[in-house]
Amino acid sequence: MPKEGNSECVRKLAVANVLSGRRIVHIVYLFTQIQNEKHHGDTDRSFMDMDFVKEEVDVLHCTWIFKCRVCNIVSEIMSENRENKETYMTINETAVHRILATGGGYSQLSECSAGVDMHCMSNKTFLNHMKKVSDAIDDAALQSMVDAAEE
Ligand SMILES: [Zn+2]
Repeated sequence: MPKEGNSECVRKLAVANVLSGRRIVHIVYLFTQIQNEKHHGDTDRSFMDMDFVKEEVDVLHCTWIFKCRVCNIVSEIMSENRENKETYMTINETAVHRILATGGGYSQLSECSAGVDMHCMSNKTFLNHMKKVSDAIDDAALQSMVDAAEE
C-alpha cells in the first residue's frame, strides 16, 4: 500500500517499448549495474546477451527492462539508485529544487526539458515535489535556528 503523502508511490509510470530522447543518469551507478549483470553464474553470459524490452519512466527517473536471449531472465537497469531516497533527493526532486533555486518554476522546467529532449513532469507532479522540497528546506532552516540558539 502506498505511503500517505508520498506522491511517487501512487503516481503511475509511463511505459514505452521504444527508446527515444535523452535521459539523466547516475553514470557510475548505471555502469556498475551493467558490469554486475552476470546472471549465468560462472559462464561468460552478460548484459551483452540481453535485449531491451521496455522502459518505465517516472519523469526523470528511468528503469529499463532487459531480457536474456539465452535463458529469458529479465533484468532491470535503473538511471539512479532509489534505495536511499528517504535520505537524499531523487532526480525529480533535484530538478524541482534547482529550478526553484534559480528563480524559475514549472514553465522553465518544462521549456528546459523540451529543449534538451527529455521527459518532463506534469504541473501537478511539479507542485507535489515543490511541496516536499519546501518542507525539507523549512525543516533545515528550523534546525539551523535551533542549533544556533543552543550555541
Ligand atoms: Zn541468460
